[in-house]
Amino acid sequence: MRFTKLKGTRDIIYDEAAKKLHLENEFRRIATGYGFSEIITPILEYTELFERSTGATTDIVQKEMYAFSDKGGRSITLRPEGTPGVVRAILENKIKFPCRLFYIGPMFRYERPQKGRLREFYQLGVEVLGEANPKVDLELIELGFELFSELGIKSSLEINSVGCPKCRPFYKERLLDFFKGKNKNLCVDCRIRLERNPLRVFDCKNESCQNILETAPKIKDFLCSDCQTHFAEVIKGLKKLEDVSLNINDRLVRGIDYYTKTAYEFVSKELGAQNSLGGGGRYDDLVEEFGGPKTPATGFALGEERILLLMRNTEGGGRNLVFIAFLDESAQRSAESLIKVLRKNGIPSLMSYSKEKLTSQLKKADQLHSRWTIIIGEDELKKGVYTLRDMESGEQKLVAEQELVSYIKQLK
Ligand code: AMP
Repeated sequence: MRFTKLKGTRDIIYDEAAKKLHLENEFRRIATGYGFSEIITPILEYTELFERSTGATTDIVQKEMYAFSDKGGRSITLRPEGTPGVVRAILENKIKFPCRLFYIGPMFRYERPQKGRLREFYQLGVEVLGEANPKVDLELIELGFELFSELGIKSSLEINSVGCPKCRPFYKERLLDFFKGKNKNLCVDCRIRLERNPLRVFDCKNESCQNILETAPKIKDFLCSDCQTHFAEVIKGLKKLEDVSLNINDRLVRGIDYYTKTAYEFVSKELGAQNSLGGGGRYDDLVEEFGGPKTPATGFALGEERILLLMRNTEGGGRNLVFIAFLDESAQRSAESLIKVLRKNGIPSLMSYSKEKLTSQLKKADQLHSRWTIIIGEDELKKGVYTLRDMESGEQKLVAEQELVSYIKQLK
């Protein structure tokens, strides 16, 4: 019986795993530099958490959740996004505001898999709770761009204001008026969306729905003065940033219900259909919705898989394993003490357990993804040197015993 992985999941191995680790370490380093601490929350949460925050009318909750009843009959969901669990954890653990937390971990959505869209995918996220200042929105956007620039990735920003509970109801009403008589040209999903939350029509990828939206009223014309001032401040700040390509997109609503005021997406031209590298915005009402005090908040989540698609393959250092090959018994003894020295010095190393032909040792070294092989034979022992073979180019070089560690370290 041979098993296969589930559709929309992937196995991450060798160089790809190293690249992923490098991405996470860079994110960790930069987020820490901006004063964030890491939070690790469970992958399993009560289903209601997402219904109440991500939104009962969103595609995520309606169609994409991995929800099931556990053995105790409770409705449980594999988290489709990070923010609801983080906010729950902050309240449950009575963490004081303001606070800044980042997370890294897998998310699950039952979507139709394609390039850059999986059913299990990883997100890198930041959340700031207890800060209302538009400068915080700006700071998070800068953090995102800093990560992309460190990784050599070009990205631009799509941004909008989605208003707040004070002004959005007027906009929704106008939107409903606008759709009157146009129902028959909307897709079946959008007709349902219209009944539940007309803003969700903006999430539809269907061409005929998108065409109708061309002439729809724009939320910017309905923003209250508070939302207008906030948005103007964010845009003013963004325009001062160097190298930021910015597009104010008044159709951007994002597929999640809790956003208020600022909503944005980092996009890349190089990705094709799934062009969004990440997105975020303010959610000034979510903490209260979860039973906490009224607390402004803002955050974003980036999709690891899409960033990995744009990162160079060598990113993450590639291979750095050293294999020690030995030709006879005294060389084996020498190899056994050398491997201890290398490992103590932080140089990843491996060797065979018993004597094998040099060709099979080199083959093994290759299969184990070694970058270099040290060859020890009678000659080397006599001269006090090692032969160091570059497994990519096949080039060999003699290195003096006492210089080996420093020589390998400078190769990396
Ligand atoms: P969201 O949580 O929907 O705001 O998405 C934030 C980011 O997560 C997106 O911009 C993508 O980069 C990534 N993302 C969302 N859904 C998927 C998915 N199904 N597969 C891979 N990445 C995803």
